[in-house]
Amino acid sequence: MSEVRNVVIVGSGPAGYTAAIYASRAQLEPLMYEGSVTAGGALMNTTEVENFPGFTDGVMGPDLMDSMRKQAKRFGTELITDDIVEMDLTGEIKILKDGSGNTVKAKSVILATGSAYREIGLENEKRLSGRGVSWCATCDGFFFKGQTIAVVGGGDSAVEEATFLTRFAEKVVLIHRRDSLRASKIMADRAKANPKIEFLWNTEVIDVLGKDKVEGLKLRNTVDGKESEAAFTGLFVAIGHIPRSELIVGQINLDAEGYVIAEGRSTRTNQKGVFACGDLVDHTYRQAITAAGSGCAAALDAEKFLAH
Ligand code: NAP
Repeated sequence: MSEVRNVVIVGSGPAGYTAAIYASRAQLEPLMYEGSVTAGGALMNTTEVENFPGFTDGVMGPDLMDSMRKQAKRFGTELITDDIVEMDLTGEIKILKDGSGNTVKAKSVILATGSAYREIGLENEKRLSGRGVSWCATCDGFFFKGQTIAVVGGGDSAVEEATFLTRFAEKVVLIHRRDSLRASKIMADRAKANPKIEFLWNTEVIDVLGKDKVEGLKLRNTVDGKESEAAFTGLFVAIGHIPRSELIVGQINLDAEGYVIAEGRSTRTNQKGVFACGDLVDHTYRQAITAAGSGCAAALDAEKFLAH
């Protein structure tokens, strides 16, 4: 492709779509790579979002993403359901390659690749992934009808997953390494009031047992170090996320955890014309609304950059 685009947005989700809405309304004719399997981002795997302003009765995560996508399209964003697999962001003209082998050139790039699920890091967790180990209750919960399953984690994701899973499971045991939850009070209270949810405090999962499918977990008490085994047919891992910055290592300044370092309150990175937004830059808030806000800021920063 010899054409040089004004702006290419890499990644969808609230940050990417909001950047696309603003950039297309500013007549920048953005090209957006939504991702092949991850289009729509993390909210595609959630159920009801109750705290996105403007939706009095809540909105389903996938419906919210679909609305944002349509809004971006309405103002002329060109959407491609593919991944960017390689980027050279160092020159004045940025060069990106997609999963189908096409090359795209751009004067500016907005990075909105979000984050991926964190893994516990156990060998058998990987081996039994899709065979009882899952990171997505809304995707896989249905397969655990009438069963006893475990959820690991103590944040909003873990209590949300545990609560959702009670629709299918007979019993959900939430295993957390400390004795208090990190989750917001409203969500924690809801989970604590749910008769199908039990809490296993001060406990970590040290192995996943089972030959071809999950049959149990090996656990360790984090206070006295005692080890035990318990029978479970499913394990949902909800212990947070890691930024998806692997493609930009060495080109964009990242912090020790792999998040993009932006300049001050802006979305500017160390490479001129490259902006970053959403979970890729955010350790702290990681909400749909803050991601959307930073996507807006990235589009405005890109617009200003292109005007100069
Ligand atoms: P999080 O808040 O970072 O919580 C991760 C949890 O996993 C923590 O309780 C942590 O334990 C535990 N953990 C981390 N590494 C672990 C390991 N290796 N082994 C065992 N446990 C481990 O992540 P999150 O729950 O995914 O939430 C991320 C952000 O999204 C938050 O800002 C949250 O508010 C937001 N969110 C919001 C909603 C909503 O509002 N509807 C829903 C989901 C997520 P410690 O507590 O001991 O650190």
